[in-house]
Amino acid sequence: MSVSSSESPNHHNLTIGILALQGAYEAHAKTLATLGATTRLIRTPEDLEGPEKIDGLIIPGGESTTMLKFLERNHFLDTLQRFVRTTPTFGTCAGAILLAKDVQHPAQTSLGALDITIERNAYGRQIDSSILTEPTSLPGGPLEMVFIRAPRITRTGPAVETLATRNGFPVLVRQGHLLAATFHPELSQDTRVHQYFLDLIKTPGA
Ligand code: GLN
Repeated sequence: MSVSSSESPNHHNLTIGILALQGAYEAHAKTLATLGATTRLIRTPEDLEGPEKIDGLIIPGGESTTMLKFLERNHFLDTLQRFVRTTPTFGTCAGAILLAKDVQHPAQTSLGALDITIERNAYGRQIDSSILTEPTSLPGGPLEMVFIRAPRITRTGPAVETLATRNGFPVLVRQGHLLAATFHPELSQDTRVHQYFLDLIKTPGA
């Protein structure tokens, strides 16, 4: 059998789960669809660990406290914690808060997977949302970033790579199979961050 030469370089043949308990999950599904990935909304622990495997997971933005309330039912938090230990996962905003090892302002339960300290609602109430274009090491130059009541990463562990910053603070970070953004890449037209996540799934050790 020959490989089709019309195969798009964006076609990943991947199935990505999107945690759909609350928050901005629909826009992630749209972005992933434009990149050729299949998406599945994840609402129960069975969706996550059932027979139909997913290649990666997005934990979207929203309210991390509200998501935690849902996750406290049916041992969902434990299942998710086990899942993110080994499977590529991308957390945006509230999702980054859930992935973090250390959450402050105030402290709250998290998955403890990504070796960062993150401070919730770090930009105050007056200017809590903004759209900036900031530097990134992703190919293609500066990146539009939509911040909504964003947290701030105040510490990164030695295994964490910073891929983009805002005023010197990391806003896009990677630790092996884990990726986190304090902004909402699904709300911009630029698909580079999602593309990066799909590439990461193919080469988790890169
Ligand atoms: N402020 C929210 C939280 O603390 C995160 C905001 C977002 O996801 N846009 O969970």
